[in-house]
Amino acid sequence: MKRPPEINIGATRIVFLTDGFWRNDGGCMFGVVPRELWKKNHPPDVYNRIRLNLTCPLILRGREAILVDTGIGNRLSATERKIFDHGEGWLLDGLQALGMEPGDITAVILSHLHFDHCGGIVRHRESGVIETAFPCARIFVQQGELEIAKGPKNERLRTAYRHLEECLAPNIKAIEPMDGELEIISGVTARVTGGHTRDHQVVVVRDGDGSFAHLADIVPTRSHLSGAWNQAYDLDPMATMEHKAAYLRQAVSERSWIGFAHDDHLFAAQIVHQDGKTKIGHSIGAIAE
Ligand SMILES: [Zn+2]
Repeated sequence: MKRPPEINIGATRIVFLTDGFWRNDGGCMFGVVPRELWKKNHPPDVYNRIRLNLTCPLILRGREAILVDTGIGNRLSATERKIFDHGEGWLLDGLQALGMEPGDITAVILSHLHFDHCGGIVRHRESGVIETAFPCARIFVQQGELEIAKGPKNERLRTAYRHLEECLAPNIKAIEPMDGELEIISGVTARVTGGHTRDHQVVVVRDGDGSFAHLADIVPTRSHLSGAWNQAYDLDPMATMEHKAAYLRQAVSERSWIGFAHDDHLFAAQIVHQDGKTKIGHSIGAIAE
């Protein structure tokens, strides 16, 4: 496998790993935006699914190796794999291409607990056993996400978190619940945005003059840079819009990099403001077209 692309933020390396492409319903990804508008940049297949990525930035500094989100992993049933058109192995292949192993990951920060972000914290072995995927990592997740996941009374939340028992049980000792903003190591901070889920968080890296923000499901693709383009999954789209606007304003003024969780063309980009619009400047492309 080709070496995954990376950027340097001061003395910190951000390597763009991916858990591979998958497909999901275009209508779910763009909410109130009509298909006629999104289909140009995200051509739907016969099932109305669009191609998406599962970007998992790896933050490297000294002995620290901090993974942001873990993709879908290999825990899905054959039927679910077909529905989402997801393979497996890319995240571990990417690590291997860096000369690293799962045991080298020192921390995992989960933006939220939907299956396409936390599924990869477990490995489904051929024996049928489901075990932790990163045996030496501390796992950081918002307490609020864990609480909702534990006992969702609401039917919509129950469905959205139905995979969690399987993902959390093998990792229970490694999980460090967070209560709001937390600096994981100096210059690497997780910040709650809400919007997509009540306690959804993003990860901001600052080192020297540079900065990088992985905006997870607040700006999942390049098309979501537009204010009103938000996912149907968002529990509070107004909060998504407010946080998106604030982070993008900051990214333009500081020339910082932003990461896209699901864009199939771009892992990350610098953005510029031109003619009243937010546009892509320098960018890092996703592997394999
Ligand atoms: Zn997602």
